[in-house]
Amino acid sequence: MTTSSAWSVALLGMDARPVEVEASITSGLPRVVMVGLPDTALYEARDRCRAAFAGAGLGWPSQLLTINLTPAWLPKSGSHYDLAIVAAVLMADEKAPGDVGRRCVFMGELGLDGCTRPVRGILPGVLAARRVGFDTAVVPAVQYREASLVEGVTVWPVADLADLVEVLHGRPVLARSMPQDTVDVPAQRLVGDLCEVKGQPEACWALEVAAAGGHHVFLHGAPGVGKSMLAQRLPGLLPALDDESALEVSAVRSLAGIEVGGGLVRTPPFSNPHHNASMAAMVGGGSRVASPGAISLAHRGVLFLDEAPEFSPRVLEALRTPLETGEVTIARANAQVRYPARFQLVLAANPCPCGMSGVPGGRCTCAPMSIRRYNDRLSGPILDRIDIHLRLMPNLAGLVDSLSGDPTAVVAQRVAEARERMSVRLTPVKCRTNAEVPGSVLRRMPRPQGTELLDDAMRQGRLSARGYDKVVRLAWTLADLAGRQVPDREDLAGALSLRQDEWRAAA
Ligand SMILES: [Zn+2]
Repeated sequence: MTTSSAWSVALLGMDARPVEVEASITSGLPRVVMVGLPDTALYEARDRCRAAFAGAGLGWPSQLLTINLTPAWLPKSGSHYDLAIVAAVLMADEKAPGDVGRRCVFMGELGLDGCTRPVRGILPGVLAARRVGFDTAVVPAVQYREASLVEGVTVWPVADLADLVEVLHGRPVLARSMPQDTVDVPAQRLVGDLCEVKGQPEACWALEVAAAGGHHVFLHGAPGVGKSMLAQRLPGLLPALDDESALEVSAVRSLAGIEVGGGLVRTPPFSNPHHNASMAAMVGGGSRVASPGAISLAHRGVLFLDEAPEFSPRVLEALRTPLETGEVTIARANAQVRYPARFQLVLAANPCPCGMSGVPGGRCTCAPMSIRRYNDRLSGPILDRIDIHLRLMPNLAGLVDSLSGDPTAVVAQRVAEARERMSVRLTPVKCRTNAEVPGSVLRRMPRPQGTELLDDAMRQGRLSARGYDKVVRLAWTLADLAGRQVPDREDLAGALSLRQDEWRAAA
């Protein structure tokens, strides 16, 4: 009997655990037995690997081959174990020495011709391998650059099984004809400039405040007033992602099967799921592989829900926990899958199903009951978590051409300066933006002037306890934008006006 083993990783969202793939060749009828909780895709690896051996002109062991994946209790899925399986088989069959292969972590799928195929999650997989002490990763050649984004790990690319045999002999075939330089890639092309939004100075200002403080925004108003235009322009106002955030955003994209390419994603992402989106599409999950959902693809960027009342109430309620914790946990058999989801939420809604309620000169054809039902689809707890509530009015005739605000680049500069002031104050309390500051920390900060304005609003029932804190956070952002040390009365009044809940009043 000969036995050998190679390492791979099981991906559990952003976390990963090392998995040892053991191969044992014993006398017996020539067949392959696979044990250790493999799923269907993994079970098929048996046939894929055998075909790949034949395709590469290598002989498959002609005895009983047992492949065991440990730890056995951990469910394993996906096709990325192929490379570890064939490495273990090659070593057990004494076609390669065992010393080099034992030190590497293997991730990659094989085609029937023996060539390697790209797999999801290379970046988080290699990150996890580094965490548990591996310093060498063997990956499909086409994913060499993605794996190389992880510092401190040597990456050996393999284009086919012949390359793998070389690697196991300690003779890696280094990046044939692959450029070594990395370039930062945009998460998506930025859409439009803020100065294209005409006749909405208040809304542009609110967007600037939202960008500076990381505040959530609710925009409501008639169709065509520019709600989507504004939302699409928010990522352009946000600062570029720092190294840690860029690595997280790139890792989520890798897990979603979006090509990461040769550089980290530096622009804040923009995710705008359709209102028919299922629970799994929104928060993540799925029957086979727990993929990240739209909220995780918005991590460190913007989640835009257009026509928010049309989303399923269950889907909207599912946003509550990530809004508080910045992550989402999906329960799977024997394991929990965790994805980051710290996003800036932008909700947009029409005033009523037909869109004309409260619009000057418009004629609403909705029954009062249907307007009420439409309004109630956005629950109090969700709206209470949104910092800025803004009602957009249609452009007045004649203003369309005359009024346009500052271009994106100018506003982004002011946002960056405000963030700078914020970080001096918030770095000691481990927050990045005013919106993230916990209530307990907020109350230890200097008291803004004019808080009696808020006490009045609370007494009149216009402000909840959570709303009170949100207004104070907004006031800090206004002070940061204005370069003031502590918010003054004007900042507080400005913050309060950004949180007028006219949503139900508009109906
Ligand atoms: Zn209507």
